[in-house]
Amino acid sequence: MQFGSPCPCKSGKPYSMCCKIFHDGAKAPNAEALMRSRFSAYAKQLPEYIMMTTHPDNHSVLKDKVAWAQQILGFCQGTDFQNLEILEFEDGDAVAYVTFTAQLMQGGNDASFTERSRFLKNKGQWLYRDGVISPT
Ligand SMILES: [Zn+2]
Repeated sequence: MQFGSPCPCKSGKPYSMCCKIFHDGAKAPNAEALMRSRFSAYAKQLPEYIMMTTHPDNHSVLKDKVAWAQQILGFCQGTDFQNLEILEFEDGDAVAYVTFTAQLMQGGNDASFTERSRFLKNKGQWLYRDGVISPT
């Protein structure tokens, strides 16, 4: 039996049974699942998914979608997404928080960080609103 490659979000599950489901269009059931699927989307270089799951009021949003996609893709291509660790998940009906450590390498330099991300639910879809970053 072929299980395929492991999911970049480090869930221990194959990608096809983990974040790919959301990348293919299913709505993430909670903010933690969304967070994981966004990390995997960066690792898999899927800028459309990042844009679709970013809240319109987020500071990184660009009106020019083509430029925005290129900016995200540039970040993806210059980064090695080594590990994701979820430290805390504070669930809620409309607002949820996920604290995580992302282990990243950029051009041979450690670009890891820990962030407490805020997610808002909009019409049944969890969206990344913003986050507070602390160096690891
Ligand atoms: Zn995953």
